[in-house]
Amino acid sequence: VIESGQPEHSVVTTCAYCGVGCSFKAEMQGDKLVRMVPYKGGDANHGHACVKGRFAFGYATHKDRIREPMIRDAINDPWRTVSWDEAIEFAARRLRATQDKYGRESIGGITSSRCTNEETYLVQKLIRAAFGNNNTDTCARVCHSPTGYGLKTTIGESAGTQTFDSVMKSDAMIVVGANPTDAHPVFASQMRRRLRQGAKLIVIDPRRIDLLHTPHGGEAIHLPLRPGTNVAMINALGHVVVSEGLEDHDFIDNRCDPEAYREWREFIAEERNSPEAMEVVTGVPAALVRQAARLFAEAGNGAIYYGLGVTEHSQGSTMVMGIANLAMATGNLGREGVGVNPLRGQNNVQGSCDMGSFPHEFPGYQHVGDAAVRQHFEAEWGVTLDDEPGLRIPNMFDAAVAGHFKGLYVQGEDVAQSDPNIQHVEAALTSLDCLIVQDIFLNETAKYAHVLLPGSTFLEKNGTFTNAERRINRVRRVMPPIAGLEDWEVTMALSNAMGYPMNYSHPSDIMDEIARLTPSFAGVSYDKLDRLGSIQWPCNDAHPEGTPTMHVQDFPIGKGHFAVTEYVASNEKTTRKYPLVLTTGRILTQYNVGAQTRRTNNSKWHPEDVLEIHPSDAELRGVREGDWVGITSRVGQTVVRARISERMLPGVVYTTFHHPETGANVITTENSDWATNCPEYKVTAVQVEKVSQP
Ligand code: SF4
Repeated sequence: VIESGQPEHSVVTTCAYCGVGCSFKAEMQGDKLVRMVPYKGGDANHGHACVKGRFAFGYATHKDRIREPMIRDAINDPWRTVSWDEAIEFAARRLRATQDKYGRESIGGITSSRCTNEETYLVQKLIRAAFGNNNTDTCARVCHSPTGYGLKTTIGESAGTQTFDSVMKSDAMIVVGANPTDAHPVFASQMRRRLRQGAKLIVIDPRRIDLLHTPHGGEAIHLPLRPGTNVAMINALGHVVVSEGLEDHDFIDNRCDPEAYREWREFIAEERNSPEAMEVVTGVPAALVRQAARLFAEAGNGAIYYGLGVTEHSQGSTMVMGIANLAMATGNLGREGVGVNPLRGQNNVQGSCDMGSFPHEFPGYQHVGDAAVRQHFEAEWGVTLDDEPGLRIPNMFDAAVAGHFKGLYVQGEDVAQSDPNIQHVEAALTSLDCLIVQDIFLNETAKYAHVLLPGSTFLEKNGTFTNAERRINRVRRVMPPIAGLEDWEVTMALSNAMGYPMNYSHPSDIMDEIARLTPSFAGVSYDKLDRLGSIQWPCNDAHPEGTPTMHVQDFPIGKGHFAVTEYVASNEKTTRKYPLVLTTGRILTQYNVGAQTRRTNNSKWHPEDVLEIHPSDAELRGVREGDWVGITSRVGQTVVRARISERMLPGVVYTTFHHPETGANVITTENSDWATNCPEYKVTAVQVEKVSQP
C-alpha cells in the first residue's frame, strides 16, 4: 500500500528481496513509511527498481506481524504470550535440557538469507560457541550451496567474479538456469540494454524465458534442454571448444593448473561428450550446440550468468564446475565483461554463506578443521571450538526422525514450506523437543514450534546485506522494531541466557569483530561503508576500497583448477505412471515462499500458483486454460490451475511455490546434489490430470 503525503525525511537503505541489492530512499512521515524511492546513488541499481522493492513493503506493518513472544509446552497446546525475558529464559532452559538429555550435538540452528550479515554471524557464533557444536546451516543449502563447492574447487572463491555493470562490456552472455526478468529484474534491464546494443545471447533452459524476447542487436540462441541434462550440455559446449581449437591457450598456459587441464581436456575431447552424442540426452540439435559454442568462444568478452536451474540438481556442483571450466577454457575470467556469475536469489544469500553459516566453515569460508583458523576464532571468542563439521539441514531432519537431533533454532526461514519433501520435514519437526522459530509472521514452520520469537523486518534494523556481486550495502533502520528488539539483539539475549556472554551495543560492533576474523572483510567498517556507499569484498590491505573484478592476476588457489565433469543421469526418471518432468521457479511479483509479497498488493498479479503445460500435453489430458489439475509425484500431490504455454517443452511442466496452500514442495523429492545435498527441485517425475475444483 502506498500511502499519500509529503515526506519529512528519508533514509537510504537496501531492498530486502532479491540478490541485486537495490538501494532505496525510504521516505518517511515521522515513523510512517510513505514511499520507497529508488536511490540514484545506489551502486547496484543506479536509481532503478522493480515492482517488489518499489511497492511491496506493506507487509512490514501488516496486521499478521507477530508483536509479542509466545511459548507453549507442546505443539498442540495454545500459545501463551509472554515477555521477552520469559520467552528467552524458556528457550534457553529447554535447549539446555535437551543437551543434558541427548548430548551436546543434539541441537543446532538455521540462519536466514533474509537477515543481515551481522545477525547471521551472531547465529552461527551462538551455535559454535554457546551450543558447542557446528550444527549450523543456512537456507543457501537449498539454493546455492553447489556454487560454494563448485567455484571454490575450480577458481578458489565461492562468489561471482564481476560487478553487474560489467555486463555492459560483454560481447556474449550465456544465461543458464536463470530467469532474470522475473527473479533479478533490475539486472535483467541492464542485460537487455546490452543486448539491444548488439551483445549475443545464449539461453540454456527448458523454458523459453522472456530475455529471449528482447529486441536484440545481435544473435540469440535458445538451447531448450531436457531438465536434468545441464552437465551433458556444458560438456558438449566444452567439447566443441576443444575439438575446434577455440581455446584461449594464453590464459590456460598462464593461469591454470597444467595437470588438471590435461586431464579435463582428455576427458572432454572424448566423442561421448560431443554435441552429436549428447543430443539424445539433452534433446537439443547438435548443430545448434556447435553454433552456440562458437558464438561464445569467438565473441571477445563472454560472461556466464546462472541461477537455481543450475544448482538445484543432483549434479548441481558438477554443473557449476562445468561452467567454470568453460570460462577458463575460453579465457573469460579476470577482466570486465566476462566471468562466472551466480545470480543469488535472496537478498543476503551471499552474505549468509560469507558469514560462516555452513557447518564446515567459519566466516570467510575458513574450514573448521584448520587448526590455525580455529585458534584465531577461539582466541577472539574465548571458547574451545569443535573441529568436526556439523550437520547439514537434511542431515538434521534425518537425525531428528531417527531420534538423535532434538532442538532447533530457526531464524527467518520457513523450512516447512521451502524445503523439499515436506512430509519428511514435518516428521522431523514434530520429533523435536525444542523448536524455536524467529520470524515476522506465524509461518508454516511455526506450527511445530515451542517458542515463537518476533522477528524484525529490514526497515526495523541496522546492518548490512551482501548482494550477488559481493557488494556490501548498508541497511539502515527506518522505524522502531515492532516487537521492541532487532533480530541480533534477540540472538544475543539467547546466547547470554545459554551462559555464553555476548555484549554488542550496535551492529557496527559485530562488523568490527567480523573484520578481525575474516580476511576478505578485514578492511570493512561502517565508517568506510558510509564514505564509499558500498564495498565489494575482498576488502583488505591489498584492496582497501574493495574488489569489483576478481581473479585479475591469479586465483586464491593460485592456478585455476579444471575439473572432470562426468554426466550422470538423475535418479528421478519418468515412467508410465509419472510421464512428465516438473520443474519449479519464481514469478516477478512474488518472492520466494511469498510470506512478504502475499501480504502486499503484489498478490493481485499472482494470486495463486499455476501449472504451465505445453498445448500438446494439455490436449492429451483434455486440459484447457484455467482448468484445475492434480499434479502427482511419487511423494505427494497438489492441485493448481493450468496455464497452457508454448514456453514449455512437450513433456515438461512448470510451477511456482509462492503459495503454501498449493505447496509445490509436497511433490518434490529427497534427491539432492551429490556434493552439498542441495535438493533437486528442478527434476520431479509427475503425472498431471484434470480434476474438479479442490
Ligand atoms: Fe529489490 Fe531485486 Fe527488485 Fe532490486 S531487483 S528492487 S533488489 S527485488
